[in-house]
Amino acid sequence: MSDLVISDVRPWGGDPVDVRVSGRLIAALEPHDPTAGRAAGAEEDIVAHVNGAGRLLLPSFTDTHVHLDSTRVGLPFEPNEVERRSLWSFIRNDRDNWRSAGASVTDRATHTLGRAIAHGMTRARSYAQIDADCGLERLEGVLAAREAHSDRADVEVVAFPQAGLLVEPGVPAFIEEGLRSGVDLVGGIDPCALDKDPRRHLDIVFELADRYGVGVDIHLHEPAELGLFSAQQIIERVRALDMRGRVTIAHAFFLSGISEGQRAHVLSELVELDIAVTTVAPSGRGTLPLLEILDAGVRIGLGQDGQRDYWSPYGNTDMLDRTWQLAFTNGLRRDSDIERALETATLGGARVIDPSLSRTSSRGVGVGDAADLVLVPGEYPASAVMDRPGDRTVIHAGRIVSEAGELL
Ligand SMILES: [Zn+2]
Repeated sequence: MSDLVISDVRPWGGDPVDVRVSGRLIAALEPHDPTAGRAAGAEEDIVAHVNGAGRLLLPSFTDTHVHLDSTRVGLPFEPNEVERRSLWSFIRNDRDNWRSAGASVTDRATHTLGRAIAHGMTRARSYAQIDADCGLERLEGVLAAREAHSDRADVEVVAFPQAGLLVEPGVPAFIEEGLRSGVDLVGGIDPCALDKDPRRHLDIVFELADRYGVGVDIHLHEPAELGLFSAQQIIERVRALDMRGRVTIAHAFFLSGISEGQRAHVLSELVELDIAVTTVAPSGRGTLPLLEILDAGVRIGLGQDGQRDYWSPYGNTDMLDRTWQLAFTNGLRRDSDIERALETATLGGARVIDPSLSRTSSRGVGVGDAADLVLVPGEYPASAVMDRPGDRTVIHAGRIVSEAGELL
């Protein structure tokens, strides 16, 4: 019995196969049989059929860093003349505008999540800003978007103190309230640069995570030695609380600003404590040395960050575009290196969210792997990253959730 057969697809660009899916998992891969002429109902035991038509078969994309509560995707372009003076200039611009964005947080988050799914993403970790200005209002919008697409994607939500925990009163209590309303992780941000009290900031974050039994995901934009100091404070707490595999450092800009020796040491600590890293593939000093991080064995995922919002005009919900950006900002040229960027955007991100996902040679498209898959036209994985073609089929938990850009 197969719930779904995907015929004539090439896993990571390999030889054509027919894939049998049972329940939420890949049950079998057989060499493609062009004479089978399968169609739903034609063989008694097949419920649904996808003609792969020679397309690439990849694990679906995982967006490990998205701000669904701030997106303006689908709305008219917003002029942005905010000067990059500090994080606060962006926070203020967002505060001045988000309530009059032209659509509710729920509608904007739901639309953006739907477009991302149509592009091949079926797992995400979204932040929901919680602060003295919005309370839990934005969180409610993100939770509603997750619910609206619950049959198409698995979305984790982070209670995210974008404006710090200590600058304005009452924020830790709001975060705690968020934890009682279905949030999966506690967020933190620049404990030195924003709150200027790293110990207190991180103690609040880790105490809440420990008490509610949830993971931690900390935005760390702090550069070089400052970021390294904060990272060491995080590492200390992961060790003390034995939170192996449940903590992520987002951005981790400091990794590109420290010496090779310092980097090798801190990467080995991240591996030892199974702390993950996520990047949104920024240019300049925020560009992380992807291959070095992968070679060290650190779990790393890719994300699209805020998209067309009051912070930035970039982002179009397509993780394949962001994969190109990751390859481009890292200066990757060899096919095998570009494939590693694509693996980061797919299986790598899935492992950031679920560390139990194995590091098998199947690369996420083998027997026993989750049937969370995307079919993409292309000769090779590297050419698909360069061309970023449409005509994708997206499968989540063994079911087709989008075809050629349309949600099903
Ligand atoms: Zn972010």
